[in-house]
Amino acid sequence: MDYQHEQHTVHLIVYHIIWCPKRRRHLLQGKLAERLEQLVREVAQENAWEVLRLAIQPDHVHLFIRTNPYTLPTDIARKIKGRSSHVRRRGISAVAQTAFLVDTQYLLQHGGQRQCRNHTELYREAEQDMSRKPKGLQNTLQVRLYPTPLQGHLLMAHCQEYIGTVNVLSSALDADVIPHDDTFSTKDFVASLPSCVKNQALRDARSVFKRSLELDCLPVLKKPICQWNNQNWQISHGTLTLPVCLDGKTQQIQIACADVALEGLPGILRIKKKRGKWIADLTMTIPAPKPVEQDGVMGIDLGIKVPAVAYVVGAGSRFFGNGRYQRQMRRRFYARRKKLQKAKKARAVKKSQGKETRWMKDINHKLSRQIVNHAHQQGVGTIKIETLQGIRKGTTSTSRGASARKNNRMKNSWSFSQLTAFITYKAERLGIKVEQVDPAYTSQECPACSTRNKAADRTYVCAECGWIGHRDMVGAINISRRAGLSGERRGAVGA
Ligand SMILES: [Zn+2]
Repeated sequence: MDYQHEQHTVHLIVYHIIWCPKRRRHLLQGKLAERLEQLVREVAQENAWEVLRLAIQPDHVHLFIRTNPYTLPTDIARKIKGRSSHVRRRGISAVAQTAFLVDTQYLLQHGGQRQCRNHTELYREAEQDMSRKPKGLQNTLQVRLYPTPLQGHLLMAHCQEYIGTVNVLSSALDADVIPHDDTFSTKDFVASLPSCVKNQALRDARSVFKRSLELDCLPVLKKPICQWNNQNWQISHGTLTLPVCLDGKTQQIQIACADVALEGLPGILRIKKKRGKWIADLTMTIPAPKPVEQDGVMGIDLGIKVPAVAYVVGAGSRFFGNGRYQRQMRRRFYARRKKLQKAKKARAVKKSQGKETRWMKDINHKLSRQIVNHAHQQGVGTIKIETLQGIRKGTTSTSRGASARKNNRMKNSWSFSQLTAFITYKAERLGIKVEQVDPAYTSQECPACSTRNKAADRTYVCAECGWIGHRDMVGAINISRRAGLSGERRGAVGA
């Protein structure tokens, strides 16, 4: 953010305003939220203020606004509040009218002044941060929780508060209104969470912000979750003990849960509600296995006709999975869903979707197990696999045509990212390294002379040197020869 120069003054004034409906009701959703956003922007425009960031949560609103020295901070709140409750009383819906904004409380915070730092600097920090991951392999264990109804409410409140806090902090970081370093700590913001959870929220907000630099937009988290770090929770004999914020005080509570045996060092605990059930994700770190003393290299090509082709340098190739069967099954799932959709059986459609997802996951587990076992037997020390990065970003400049087509295929078909993830973790547990390579043109290049040909038939014939081989092998052979991409990021934590 730059200072604004006027005839006699130079200024940079940012306010952070938070306000909420009476008794913090969860009203600001759907149309109401849209209308409110519109109003805030209207008021800001009329007064020549700049809305830096506006985050409307169901029960509160955060506004970062840049104004001038001639505006009283109370005036900002008054004007916005006045307008919105005025309109509310005359319009929208009766439910909203009674409770909303008739008497809002508002809180003002000084945004403070801060010059925008160089973003490349932040990039470097982000990279450093990522490399400081704990050593060893991460293993996530899902545990079903059985909270009492009261505990359930408490957990939900924590989850919503947590996500709200992360969103607010990350937008504050993005608007440069709070410092990016350690001078900003849990003491500097308010949230009804235990301090260790606040700390975790701050950490998450920082990582969300860092990720926003890569994504080029600030993600707003929606799913309510709450996280505790390793020093604060314990699980034993079907009881999970963790600190929560109750009546403004931090207290330990005990929640009944499934009895599980833990392996490795406990890490972050994440609690969420999934289809009406409370689930705890426990991240465990298992000690890294010794790298295998095998130097074979394997390339894996993923596809539709043959789900996976593995080529071991010097030992030949092997096909995994049955593409025809998988396609047939998926067509069947699709046809069934269509039928249900016509019959307007929405619940059944969802159920069928879940069924297909689980079926696909099962196949991916089996395929990856077979592939990794094969690799282990063949003395493979490095598995090379095509990278699935950049799919969401669309085409990359390095590989336009080929990757676009491949992306399309990836999107509409098998969950290759899941298969890749399964192969990766299974291999790493055996000490086999997994490298990602750029898949551009791997299915076209001749393994002997690198000319690009298009296979017209099941057999690939090189027009240049006459190399002949099975079409599906070509990709795997080429992948096994490509150099691994540097700076790869695996296991990015997305909340
Ligand atoms: Zn050739």
